[in-house]
Amino acid sequence: MPDWSNCPPERTSPRPLQLIRTPVGRALTATITSERLLGCLTHWWGGRTSPCETPHCDACNHGSPTRWHGYLGLYDERTRGLALLELTDSCDDAIRDAIKLYGSLRGCRIKAYRAKASRNGRVILEIRAPAIDVAALPAAPDVPATLAMIWNLPKAATSAPSQPHAIDEIATSSEVADKMRGAKTPHAKR
Ligand SMILES: [Zn+2]
Repeated sequence: MPDWSNCPPERTSPRPLQLIRTPVGRALTATITSERLLGCLTHWWGGRTSPCETPHCDACNHGSPTRWHGYLGLYDERTRGLALLELTDSCDDAIRDAIKLYGSLRGCRIKAYRAKASRNGRVILEIRAPAIDVAALPAAPDVPATLAMIWNLPKAATSAPSQPHAIDEIATSSEVADKMRGAKTPHAKR
């Protein structure tokens, strides 16, 4: 006999987040759920992005260049969708400036778009102060665990560093004041 219920059973495993990149020809806007950008060196290897696993890395052994990719949890209020946004090191300045200004990225509004309508066009970020109740935001994703699923890695191989070497600077109050006066957005490098 069927076991009828008014709602589906609780999920036993977390729903994998969708990994997204800055779209071409339009802007992506969302709220950031992560406090910091977290990333690692990666290779374009076997037709996909995969993490550099030095000192025992096939891609390195074959001379494949590395590139740093950083990841941010996003929440879209309109669709209630959660995603993981992949960024490159070219977004470093905008991320650092936002952390100096707001202390954390969590709750900040992000607008990401490409300077040119091409797949590899330079990404420009505009990050604005939180305008919502940050406590009511969905939890930040576990980036290493999410990427372990996407990259098909054993979980232990991607445990987060105890001190993420992403962006972790606290500005002095005078720097913050300068930024507030300057209010220069958008930001981009390269
Ligand atoms: Zn490598």
